[in-house]
Amino acid sequence: MMMARCLSACRPATLLIAGVIGSGMIGAEPASLPFKSSPVPGGVAVIALPGQGAAPRATYRGEPVLVRRSARGWQAVVGIPLSAKPGREAIEVGGQAVSFTIKPKRYPEQRITLKDQRKVTPNAEDEARIAREQALMAPAWKAWPEGLVPSLRFHQPTPGGLTSSFGLRRIFNGEPRAPHAGLDIKAPAGQAVRAPAAGVVVLTGDFFFSGNAVFLAHGEGVVSLFAHLSKVTVKQGQLVQPGDLLGEVGMTGRATGPHLHWSLSLNNARVDPRLFL
Ligand SMILES: [Zn+2]
Repeated sequence: MMMARCLSACRPATLLIAGVIGSGMIGAEPASLPFKSSPVPGGVAVIALPGQGAAPRATYRGEPVLVRRSARGWQAVVGIPLSAKPGREAIEVGGQAVSFTIKPKRYPEQRITLKDQRKVTPNAEDEARIAREQALMAPAWKAWPEGLVPSLRFHQPTPGGLTSSFGLRRIFNGEPRAPHAGLDIKAPAGQAVRAPAAGVVVLTGDFFFSGNAVFLAHGEGVVSLFAHLSKVTVKQGQLVQPGDLLGEVGMTGRATGPHLHWSLSLNNARVDPRLFL
């Protein structure tokens, strides 16, 4: 059943973005970064880069990194994964290492009770589905639609109280699971979910954990995921402007009640979306 549902609902991960290449019409480049460097797991490090000429190409852990020009020169804006360990790290810029230090941050623990034990310990069929879905999601998290300059100032995608849920070390039915790599916004089912910034829809589907979900690529490796939706109202390849409707709040997938789960990713590392609000 699970497989049949997924096969009919999951769409291929083809990143059809050719239509927006060179449009240059969305995403205003801010004069300065709207946030300070927070070089912690789940945070964003802002790293000064050498050189004043053309935009340097920087990578972190093999992933291309967003660069911005400030009054003082080029800066790399680097997402740090929750799994990163504190200590010296480096990004690579034109074959040279530029080092920075990850500071420690300990996130609180959260214990969650789920009635559906399969959402805690998936069976073999579920595991196969999860693996297929991860293969679909992997390119979506890395999407870099050409010609899209991401805004780094986001609107809240749906009204509601912001929880401090990002980064929580979670224990489902007594079993430790991956940390919470997103922000939960408590909201009633059916409430509109709107694009927090311009972007292109790179993947939609019905996923085991995320339920009905939308992946929105904002440009230069900045990607949002909106999960547990009751309804998705956009299609893959669609270009959206800030405030455009993406879908409605729900509780599909692994959720204990209606809310919006919003993950924000830079260079394939999930970071706290509150840094961008
Ligand atoms: Zn969540």
